Amino acid sequence: MNIKSKYFDAIRVKPEKDLTRKDDGPRCAWQGCDGPGTHPAPRGRNHEGEYYRFCMRHVREYNKSYNYFSGMNDAELKQYQEAAITGHRPTWEVADRKGEPSGRKGVNTKNVSDPFDVAGGSSGQQQKEPTRRIVRKVERKSLVALNLDETASAAEIKVRYKQLVKRHHPDANGGDRASEDKLREIIQAYNYLKTAGFC
Ligand SMILES: [Zn+2]
Repeated sequence: MNIKSKYFDAIRVKPEKDLTRKDDGPRCAWQGCDGPGTHPAPRGRNHEGEYYRFCMRHVREYNKSYNYFSGMNDAELKQYQEAAITGHRPTWEVADRKGEPSGRKGVNTKNVSDPFDVAGGSSGQQQKEPTRRIVRKVERKSLVALNLDETASAAEIKVRYKQLVKRHHPDANGGDRASEDKLREIIQAYNYLKTAGFC
């Protein structure tokens, strides 16, 4: 330890061996003080993560006389100030925050099957994606549910819808639950396409 460090002005710190006493915890590191070392203070530049412990009175003295920037050249100071703007976080962390879609943590609806956007994915998780792309995805799924493709006209959609409703209606299938689910899917798909102005 170099107590004559150029980063400190008028700090008088005890020799390392006196900093702790086994009986009742750490003592104040101030030279000549026997108070409790209840207040940690950073040891300084190039000692990041290391602390002295002082009593309340001496941590104030220490903080007053401790000059973090002393000895820094202009380039180092500039670098420090630039880093201060990003909160001294490593750049990868900043990049990670930017990459996060909409600040919703722990919610991942991306892989959940939700063809009709019941979970509201288009207004949440996928907010940053172009609206057009999301709509097209749902449109395509709705058309697929009606066994149609993207070239289907409004008339074709209506005709196909009527055919499928007739075919999958539970009355036409002896009350079969599977056909009921299929019918619900067809109705939802058709309603979506109608709302979207497709038919
Ligand atoms: Zn003290």
